[in-house]
Amino acid sequence: MIIKISNLSDGSYNYEFEGEVAEIGLSEPYTGKYETNIELSKFQDQIILNSETKIEAGMVCDRCGEKYDQVIKSEHKMVYLLRGTEEENESVDVVYLNADADKINIKNDVRDYALLAIPMKKLCSEDCKGLCCKWGKNLNEGVCECNENEIDDKWKPLLKLKNNR
Ligand SMILES: [Zn+2]
Ligand SMILES: [Zn+2]
Repeated sequence: MIIKISNLSDGSYNYEFEGEVAEIGLSEPYTGKYETNIELSKFQDQIILNSETKIEAGMVCDRCGEKYDQVIKSEHKMVYLLRGTEEENESVDVVYLNADADKINIKNDVRDYALLAIPMKKLCSEDCKGLCCKWGKNLNEGVCECNENEIDDKWKPLLKLKNNR
């Protein structure tokens, strides 16, 4: 994921990268291909880069345990200062480039931000009903019968009486 910046005149540029996730050092839950879109603005003394990456991920729901696929989007913005002096800068998103730098490699940044974008809480849907705590039935597929059986159990003595009569 290399962008050549030597002889790049001032202006706006778009780049697209795609490939296998393994090529940029990603693995599960990410699967298949990544797709990265770059918007780059070149100025005399700096380059501002906006990156957006989409990757399909194979997830497992925390609540119901079902597998589901989700496209995870990650974004980052980076400022590259050209011929920058080595002054202290608080921002982590600023990179100083040597005067003779002829390219930018965004691979590691795309990988790092993709890793950060993996949600801590994995839900197949916002309103996933989860599993029955008693029988483990997936409640997204319908009401668990254990509820009905509880009622059955409660009324059993009465039914017995009724039948013996
Ligand atoms: Zn779920
Ligand atoms: Zn149940």
